Amino acid sequence: MRKFNFSSGPSVLPLPVLQQAAAGLLELEHHGVSVAEISHRSRLFTDLLNELISLFRELLHLGPEHEVIILQGGARLQFAQIPMNFLKPSETAGFIDTGYWAHKAMEYAACYGQVITIGSSADQGYHIIPEISDLPHQLTYVQLTTNNTIYGTQYQELPKMAVPLIADMSSDLLSITRDFSAIDFAFACAQKNVGPAGVSVAIVKRSFLEKAHDQLPPVFSYKNLVAHHSNYATPPVVNVYMSLLNLRWLKGQGGVAAVEKINEEKAALLYNEIERNRLFNCPVVPAHRSRMNVCFFAKEKNTELAFLDFCHEKNIVGIEGHKAAGGLRASIYNAQSLENVAYLAKVMQQFEQQHASTVYY
Ligand SMILES: *Cc1c(COP(=O)(O)O)cnc(C)c1O
Repeated sequence: MRKFNFSSGPSVLPLPVLQQAAAGLLELEHHGVSVAEISHRSRLFTDLLNELISLFRELLHLGPEHEVIILQGGARLQFAQIPMNFLKPSETAGFIDTGYWAHKAMEYAACYGQVITIGSSADQGYHIIPEISDLPHQLTYVQLTTNNTIYGTQYQELPKMAVPLIADMSSDLLSITRDFSAIDFAFACAQKNVGPAGVSVAIVKRSFLEKAHDQLPPVFSYKNLVAHHSNYATPPVVNVYMSLLNLRWLKGQGGVAAVEKINEEKAALLYNEIERNRLFNCPVVPAHRSRMNVCFFAKEKNTELAFLDFCHEKNIVGIEGHKAAGGLRASIYNAQSLENVAYLAKVMQQFEQQHASTVYY
């Protein structure tokens, strides 16, 4: 039996995607070879890779001013690769501090240039998206995290910037409509909304790409990767295939705008239950609550542990909060069905009833 999986990443994938991937691992669409056995230079693979890139373009409504790059590795690799390409030792990048991933990104960029914080919600426990202070320096770019996977905050609208904007969209790409004309470089690791871990995607404006440095090992150079149509070093072929299956699935669901509506419904259902249920609370400011990662707490620590046991009995997995934030977290990415979210809400109600009877009667 398939469990109710609320893991933050790697996270649940649609069952049809897993079934097609399993079939493709044995034999790729009647070609007599496994997808794991084909050359990355073969027409078979380049067709799959190009279809994946085209689907990103289509689903994100990208125009000719944007390039899509399929990359190896995860988001942390991009935390390093971005400053490698775009930041010189004398230059400064501004970061909006929304918690854990913003810190990591800053730490990595500091290996290549100067970094400053231009807004932070540290004082508010990262339960809010911070205001931006006046940009104090000549900044080469500003980097932010659109959805904060660990603290459960999310930008509904991105701030307008006078300098190039870089966005870590690891946990909300393809789940919400965004205006990419205002974003110079967006990136996401796959393991939240795209596919299995091991592959990432970047969406870069050509005008920004031109500013990238040329003196880099080619495997790190975005310009080189674009010139080779994302097929320079051997890409993770199976992960590319699974991401493609997942994006085909998403298109079949009606695309980003269609799943965005369901994502709103799922999030509303769960936040409403947290508000209603007298055992739980959500510290995140309502206007900035994430529709992907619902972070919440039990009002009493013992209750939290008991709830985790209760979830275990009810076949719910992956609901513990990140160690940096504590508490509970239900990740409700695109592949999480409304039915599964409703099931979790029902389990929270059952727990409230059971808990009331053991403690008070
Ligand atoms: C998951 C995540 C990361 C880290 O991804 P890795 O692939 O493990 O490096 C970075 N940023 C955000 C917003 C994430 O959700």
